[in-house]
Amino acid sequence: MARTLAKSTRDRFRRRLEDERLRLIEMIRDIEEEREEVRLTETSSDRSPDPNTAEGGSLAFEMEKELSILENTRDILAKVEEALVRIEDGTYGVCDVCGEAIPVARLEALPYTKMCVTCASARR
Ligand SMILES: [Zn+2]
Repeated sequence: MARTLAKSTRDRFRRRLEDERLRLIEMIRDIEEEREEVRLTETSSDRSPDPNTAEGGSLAFEMEKELSILENTRDILAKVEEALVRIEDGTYGVCDVCGEAIPVARLEALPYTKMCVTCASARR
């Protein structure tokens, strides 16, 4: 059984993850609002942007890019929330695959990770 993190260390990561969670939620809200604005602007204008023109093409590209950022951000948010649950149930900082302790340095760099470096790179 891997050793668990000291309570002070766990509390520090909990605070970091909670901050991160709020930041991600705000980011998602901002992107959604922006997308909604673009959508409303488009439906209210007479012509929908033609993807063959430079203007329409770059707008479609922007929307596409924002969508992937949005999906990515939601994905990280889910991981952050999962990490917070693991902090509560005491499995935070333990590799999900091999059960070894994840080095604190790795958690510092990637607080929501649930795999040690070895297992994470084996998955790629
Ligand atoms: Zn592992």
